[in-house]
Amino acid sequence: LPEVDADHLRSDLEEALEAARSERDGEPSDYLEDVQHHGVDGLAAAVCTTDGEVAVAGDADARFALQSVSKALTYAVVLEEVGLDETLEHVGVEPSGEAFNHLSLHDDGRPYNPLINAGAIMAHALVPGDDPEARVRFLLERYSALAGEELEVDQDVVDAEQERADRNLGLAHLLADGGRLPIPAREAVEGYLAQCSVTVGAEQLAVMGATLAAGGVNPRTGERVLREDVAQQAMSVMLTCGMYNASGQWVAEVGIPAKSGVSGALLGAVPGALGIATWSPRLDERGNSLRGIAVFEDLTRRWDLHVLQHH
Ligand code: GLU
Repeated sequence: LPEVDADHLRSDLEEALEAARSERDGEPSDYLEDVQHHGVDGLAAAVCTTDGEVAVAGDADARFALQSVSKALTYAVVLEEVGLDETLEHVGVEPSGEAFNHLSLHDDGRPYNPLINAGAIMAHALVPGDDPEARVRFLLERYSALAGEELEVDQDVVDAEQERADRNLGLAHLLADGGRLPIPAREAVEGYLAQCSVTVGAEQLAVMGATLAAGGVNPRTGERVLREDVAQQAMSVMLTCGMYNASGQWVAEVGIPAKSGVSGALLGAVPGALGIATWSPRLDERGNSLRGIAVFEDLTRRWDLHVLQHH
């Protein structure tokens, strides 16, 4: 990072957003249209450095559902709670190359990775708690610690998700049939859809990214939320599997561990440097936010953020 004072970060962010606004392709997810209370051209971005310096640009007040971004967060929470070995017995770390809702399973019945739906449902099933409410409460508390602010579930989003849950229920039943899902399939999907419906703003999401980037310590609150090895494992899987079936291209072009969601949310974490969050509902054909990608492409070049670059 060249200059890390908040003013400098903000003016760079604003330039990146301005350029991204010319992106007019793509459509927001149709089933969410009624519950995304912002126009299709909404755009917000925020960064938080590992020193806790924050800058926000665009629609700073917009709130949006985490959706698939929650998959990376739940994976981290589960690693912290049950450990790497037990987590790996339930879900692998291989990119699947398939669409997010494909049933990509290893020969032994484990989902390929925790960032596709099958693996995310499995990871949710490992969250401590005796019923879906308890598991969601546990996650909300941990997500809030990652963000440094109290977060909530948006019930309207939950309702919209439950209207179209057949595919996720199908995946969960197949996992249960394989004998590896530790809780009933219905409970796993109910809780998973609630975690997808936790809402954040860009700044909160950037702080979550910064907590990962800082090795698990929230730079705003000073709380250690995750162990260092857990943050590293979560970011590893984000780097290789975080952008649906565009993950390989993402590593080559942007090179930042990241996770996207169907709400248009995009979370990035640059180890030792900063968290980046963008939100914009226009999605490309793989389900990634077009303007979000444009902002990340700009910032990675502007600030030399590619994690594999030669220094
Ligand atoms: N709730 C969505 C689902 O599982 C998340 C999809 C996404 O963000 O990709 O269908």
